[in-house]
Amino acid sequence: MLSSNSYLGLCTDTRLKEAARKAVEMYGTGAGGSRLISGTSPIHRELEAQVAFFKGAGAALIFSSGYMANAGVISSVADKNWVIYSDRLNHASIIDGCRLSGARTVVYGHGDVNDLENKIRRYPSKQGLIVTDALFSVDGDLAPLPALVATARRHGLLLMVDEAHATGVLGKNGGGAAELFGIKDGIDISTGTFSKALASEGGFVAGSAALIDYLVNTARSFIFSTAMPPAGAAVSLAALDIVRTEPQRRSTLMEHAAWLRDSLGRAGFDVANHPTQIVSLILGEPRTATTFSDRLMERGIFVAAIRPPTVPAGTSRLRISLMATHTRDDLEFAVSEITAVGRELGVIGREKVST
Ligand SMILES: *Cc1c(COP(=O)(O)O)cnc(C)c1O
Repeated sequence: MLSSNSYLGLCTDTRLKEAARKAVEMYGTGAGGSRLISGTSPIHRELEAQVAFFKGAGAALIFSSGYMANAGVISSVADKNWVIYSDRLNHASIIDGCRLSGARTVVYGHGDVNDLENKIRRYPSKQGLIVTDALFSVDGDLAPLPALVATARRHGLLLMVDEAHATGVLGKNGGGAAELFGIKDGIDISTGTFSKALASEGGFVAGSAALIDYLVNTARSFIFSTAMPPAGAAVSLAALDIVRTEPQRRSTLMEHAAWLRDSLGRAGFDVANHPTQIVSLILGEPRTATTFSDRLMERGIFVAAIRPPTVPAGTSRLRISLMATHTRDDLEFAVSEITAVGRELGVIGREKVST
């Protein structure tokens, strides 16, 4: 499995399964109501306290999904008098949040702080928000967060970062890209999901106590939706505990990624070089990518092909995502099969003889 977002390999962890079982025994299955009516259990509050602590923020709020967190937060914070500056490759949930807000949305070039500066000058705002993914899931690259913090400060704008793919993975304590760059204090609004490295379900936002208070009273995807099941909260709590106590999962994951990049690069593939757990193998035409993916499946390897409109024309690819629970044997097998298929399809030269 080279296409899972369960980056730390926790979806099958016995401790998480046990946490879910216990919570079902204690609280039952569904939450039975929205958070502001009857759906709040002590475990929801405990999870919010832990997320705030984990992110080094004043407070946190949980949603039923990461999509709902982004859509709810942006549409609450901004209105038609605002300008939102949004990276061209931001996740759909951010785009939808911008639409829902009614704000003027100005898209800047992917990771391009110069373009962002130009756009801010061209479309100035009294109230504005810069929003970006932290780790872009298709290429596996990182947003230039330190420069974005400086730009936000210079122009008096809020900065919101979606750490969906970075939470639990990047940074010394798994806090995400903001922790990796050492600029946690420069982020006004940090969102993320429990559904990727944390192997659970649900989304969150961390920020100042005033922001969270405001969201509790205005974020429609929080107010008008049933609370996440208590068992989901229990799994998220157990996963955060593992993130804290087992940093070796993060280092193993990054070693895997570096090794895989290096090996595929040496085999002749066009591999983008980013310091993350996502390895994007650019192949070009959509047919090449889908055929490549099918042939790998026949050989026992699952890797999804990503094609337009998800990526620009001519950059169809295999998106490989690694897990801490992969073994070096798994990866060696992957490299030999990917190399074999690459030769079959003429993506890489045939001259090197397979070992
Ligand atoms: C997956 C993802 C989300 C949505 O999270 P869910 O919990 O799956 O709804 C939001 N933003 C980004 C960048 C994502 O990759």
